[in-house]
Amino acid sequence: MSEKILVFDSTLRDGAQAEGISFSVEDKIRVVETLDKMGIDYIEAGNPGSNPKDIEFFNRIKGIHLNHAKLVAFGSTRRGGIAVEDDANLKAILETETPAVAIFGKSWTFHITDIIKTTLAENLKMIEETMAYLKTQGKDVTFDAEHFFDGYKNDPAYAIEALLAAQEGGADCLALCDTNGGTLPYEIEEIVTDVRQKLRIPLGIHCHNDSGLAVANSLMAVHAGARQVQGTFLGYGERCGNANLATIIPNLQLKMGFHCLADAELQKLTSSAIRIAEISNYALTGREPFVGKSAFAHKGGMHIDAVMKNPASFEHVSPEAVGNERRILMSEVSGRSTIIQLINEVDPSLTKKSDETTRVMDRIKELEYQGYQFEGAESSVKLLIRKELGMHKPFFTLEDFKTIGEQTHTKEALSSSAVVKINVDGQSEINAAEGDGPVNALDKALRKALEVFYPKISEVRLTDFKVRVIDSKSATASKVRVLIESSDGVDIWTNVGVSTDIIEASLIALIDSIEYKLLNDEERENK
Ligand SMILES: [Zn+2]
Repeated sequence: MSEKILVFDSTLRDGAQAEGISFSVEDKIRVVETLDKMGIDYIEAGNPGSNPKDIEFFNRIKGIHLNHAKLVAFGSTRRGGIAVEDDANLKAILETETPAVAIFGKSWTFHITDIIKTTLAENLKMIEETMAYLKTQGKDVTFDAEHFFDGYKNDPAYAIEALLAAQEGGADCLALCDTNGGTLPYEIEEIVTDVRQKLRIPLGIHCHNDSGLAVANSLMAVHAGARQVQGTFLGYGERCGNANLATIIPNLQLKMGFHCLADAELQKLTSSAIRIAEISNYALTGREPFVGKSAFAHKGGMHIDAVMKNPASFEHVSPEAVGNERRILMSEVSGRSTIIQLINEVDPSLTKKSDETTRVMDRIKELEYQGYQFEGAESSVKLLIRKELGMHKPFFTLEDFKTIGEQTHTKEALSSSAVVKINVDGQSEINAAEGDGPVNALDKALRKALEVFYPKISEVRLTDFKVRVIDSKSATASKVRVLIESSDGVDIWTNVGVSTDIIEASLIALIDSIEYKLLNDEERENK
């Protein structure tokens, strides 16, 4: 059995400091549930001593059972010159009743004398007494040695003394923090190796990404002996962010031979990343290692050919191991051998030479001639294949639609409204909605109408909308290509529509997006 590395997520504490992130209590609970389901060991959820919203969260979460994770409340060592029992922050931490706590303290002399303005000796007492007090309260205690690497470079003896004080007080783990994110991987390895020889309790690592090295530094620390890794699930955090656990975990487990999660939990990595990005209101970057949409996307003809012979030719790990999927990007150059892969998902008996394959190829070429581009929009290709093979029964038909743009000269954005009439199995449904812009209004009206028949449509959100004017050689009527990216919190998919009219192009993509969602749900249920 490979050695266990404890995974410590701070998306809700350090991650919440990221520019642009603002978690509601509800959001926080959803993040906790997602991380717990994935088998994360520690979830640091906030600082009750400094943030009233965090207190409300800790009260709410008391009633929620976690299967695996230990919830962590975060705070600092007691203030200088007072007794631990009298420290208001520690009181607030104890009131959260979390099984684990993470306490940060100073290990860089300059921060002690110039920032918190106390003596070096008092700082050591603050650390030791705080640890000892929390241990008497039965807590699993991690000591976060803030600015540890800078402190060590400046005064190694004192930095080690700070850790020894925490060990003496009874801490369960000493997390060495690269708080300013300026340390280099080889320095991390040297310092962790030295620290390990001088202390007997487990070490942890907490890196920030200011030098673009947080993941590398975390891996080096584990390589040198750290056994707890702190980070945030997608690297969200102040400035350039924290160490990205969605990158660290698969590297530790698939390459370095450590154990972080059960295999089935590791396979939830991609869907959890999509969900957490969505809750955080960030778009998940396509190039995100392991979990991004492009992480296993192949485009060049020769690469595609090689990957189909043996995926290891251009993939460092298998996409299934992290719950992602291989994508073969469609383009005019890629030809039959790529299309056949998608055709075989629908009908495994067809070959490159089948008439059906020729028909699908002809249809794709025709659409590409009209201005379609299927690269990145395989969900549209999958639908097209089903339609060409006569294997797609539309979930609905759009009988009629109207959009009305209101030229309101108020401060509000230009508002529009839309009316749609759809038909599902002979039953009609009319619905109207307002939106900022006609496409938004259409999207809302269409969904409202469809939700009557397919409640799961309410899960879908448009996550990206791109419009491009296509250079038209005829120059009489220029066309637009609309790409719509949608997500239901589990999957992300993209659809394309082309027309001389932007609303029609959008509608083609929107309808495809909804059809794809319904098809996908149906397939998932049948599995
Ligand atoms: Zn931090």
